[in-house]
Amino acid sequence: MMDLEFDKNHIWHPYSSLINPPPVYPVARAEGVRIYLEDGRGLIDGMGSWWSTLHGYNVPELNAAMQSQMEKMSHVMFGGLTHEPAIELCKKLVALTPEPLQKVFLADSGSVSVEVAIKMALQYWHSQGKPKKNKLLALRNGYHGDTFGAMATCDPVTGMHHLFASQLTQHLFAPAPKPKFDEPCTEQDTAELQQLIEQNHQHLAAVILEPIVQGAGGMRFYSPEYLKRVRELCDQHDLLLIADEIATGFGRSGKMFACEHAGISPDILTLGKALTGGTMTLAATLCTDKVANGICNGEAGVFMHGPTFMGNPIACAVANASIDLLLRRNWQQQVDRIETQLKAELAPLKNAEGVFDVRVLGAIGVVEMQKPVNNTTVQESLINQGIWLRPFGKLVYTMPPYIISTGDLSSLTSAMCKTLSTL
Ligand SMILES: *Cc1c(COP(=O)(O)O)cnc(C)c1O
Repeated sequence: MMDLEFDKNHIWHPYSSLINPPPVYPVARAEGVRIYLEDGRGLIDGMGSWWSTLHGYNVPELNAAMQSQMEKMSHVMFGGLTHEPAIELCKKLVALTPEPLQKVFLADSGSVSVEVAIKMALQYWHSQGKPKKNKLLALRNGYHGDTFGAMATCDPVTGMHHLFASQLTQHLFAPAPKPKFDEPCTEQDTAELQQLIEQNHQHLAAVILEPIVQGAGGMRFYSPEYLKRVRELCDQHDLLLIADEIATGFGRSGKMFACEHAGISPDILTLGKALTGGTMTLAATLCTDKVANGICNGEAGVFMHGPTFMGNPIACAVANASIDLLLRRNWQQQVDRIETQLKAELAPLKNAEGVFDVRVLGAIGVVEMQKPVNNTTVQESLINQGIWLRPFGKLVYTMPPYIISTGDLSSLTSAMCKTLSTL
């Protein structure tokens, strides 16, 4: 048996307390869509291990890619050296993403790829002789990561900024986009954003946002027309647009990248989470030729960033295998099927007591309650029905692996309905 006492007393879990630790469940292995606890119980994974697991667990193709790369080399430094897995991956990313994005920086985690994106934007304007363009405009309810640079662009309230206020760069914030995914975006809806840009563009390097889906900051889906409008305003006022697709990338929202809903391309794009199909940590920041040339023609002459484990070969190899699998298995059909089923099967909750809203986009299903739920009791109830979810505040949501069967998805949604309608 695992030493849960030690875990409780010595190990930090994400956003956890070591004085009053919430329960953690010991996992022995995972296979397909199921996470198996030490006591043998199998739980259908409704979280996709935080947006990252696309093809399920213990996938032969992904294991083979990691094993075969390991036998050649687990790692070499990327400074002055290169290798096939990285070249192949960057080729794939350039081909998959919108055409203007041509240059790739391989980072080690989502937050780091956001730091890299911010640094790119600042270095770009510095080399244009406009060092005063050094602030960002972010959206309320946004989430971009936990490191200091990224944290400074998260929603100042839900991101708990006040704790670190004295250490954080003060950026500007526009209201969260109001029009929902299927609603039009009026002048009124972008008026405040437009005003902020018009009044501050001399100090603004970029707008940073999560396209279409605001994830950890509220699980909100907004209108593609809003995103189009942001792109226009950035062009009109000489701002770069940073699209953070760490959560939405690789099909999750129903398009390969959420920017495609609006038919726009950012100047800088961050990818992470599902990049390796949920196996290893790896992220990427892509940018246009214009941004890259701007940076490299500047004072430093180079882009000033280079992590020790940059471009880890095993991570790149498994990312390649994951992307191959995604394309071969017809992800579009898988995601569309999940969307249709989530819409149908979560609909009854719309009228349930205590439920504020039910929304579905792509392979993302969200139930927003009127009040915050008790995480521990909801989780316990779901586990007893063989389901793994991690509610957050008022939000009980799912983004299952794309390979989930119709039957398993039904088990997941009926457990959600049962648990949430009896709260
Ligand atoms: C998860 C997430 C991040 C941070 O990625 P980490 O790998 O956790 O550092 C940044 N932006 C968005 C939109 C995310 O969902």
